Amino acid sequence: MAMSGAAETVNIAANVARIRERIARAAARAGRNPDEIRLVAAAKTVAAARVAEAVAAGVADIGENYVQEAAAKYEQVGKSARWHLIGHLQRNKAASAARIFDIIQTVDSPRLAEAIATRAQALGRTIDVLLQVNTSGEDAKSGVAPDELGGLFEAVAPLAGIRVQGLMTIGAMHAEPEAGRPEFRLLVELAAKLEQLGAEMKWLSMGMSHDFEVALEEGANLVRIGTGVFGPRPSAARW
Ligand SMILES: *Cc1c(COP(=O)(O)O)cnc(C)c1O
Repeated sequence: MAMSGAAETVNIAANVARIRERIARAAARAGRNPDEIRLVAAAKTVAAARVAEAVAAGVADIGENYVQEAAAKYEQVGKSARWHLIGHLQRNKAASAARIFDIIQTVDSPRLAEAIATRAQALGRTIDVLLQVNTSGEDAKSGVAPDELGGLFEAVAPLAGIRVQGLMTIGAMHAEPEAGRPEFRLLVELAAKLEQLGAEMKWLSMGMSHDFEVALEEGANLVRIGTGVFGPRPSAARW
C-alpha cells in the first residue's frame, strides 16, 4: 500500500516510548501507578502495517472509529491486540462490531446497547462497553448528557451480552489543555455516582494527544492517543 514519505519517517516505537514516559510522569504527579494506565493507540486512517508496528512496540490496545476500517485491519493484525471502538456506532453495523471489538466505548443510547447485546449473544460473546458522556455540552458531540447517564445505565445494565465497565468522554478542543480539566473531573464524579447505583466503573476513557496528561491527573486509566503514536493524520482515509 502506498504511503506518503512523511508517514514513513514516523518512528512508531520511539513515539510509543515517549508517550509512555509522559504517562509515567503524569501518573507520578498524581500519585498513581502507571501500570494501571492503558494506552489505546487511536488508529483511524493508519495502515494495518503501521498498526502492527505499534503492537510490536508493545501497544496492547488499538482504537478504531469506523467498523469497516477496523474490519480490514483486524483481518491483518488480528487478536494480538485488544480492539476498542472509539467512534460512533450505527446500529446497522452492530453485528460486525460485535465480532471485532473487545470493548465498545461509545454506547450512548439504550437502542444501541440493545443492538450490540443481541449481536453479541448471537455470537456467544459478552462485550465490555463504556457509556459515552458529552461532558462539554457541545451540540455536535455524541454521548449522553450528564443528567441522562443514570437512566441510560439502568436501561443498559440488565442486558445480557454486554457488560458496562466504565465511562468515556471526548474533551472539547481547548487551546489550553488545562481548560478541559472540569470536563474530566465531571466524568470522574459521574462514575462515582454510578458506582453507588451498583455499576462497575473499571475504566475511565478520557484524554487524547493534546490533553491526556490533564486527564491522567484527574483519574483516566484509558487514554486514546492517535497523533502522538502514529504522527499527523492525512486528511483522507488511506487504510
Ligand atoms: C482520533 C481520536 C483520538 C485520538 O486523537 P489524537 O488527537 O490524534 O490523539 C482519540 N479519541 C477519539 C474518539 C478519536 O476519534
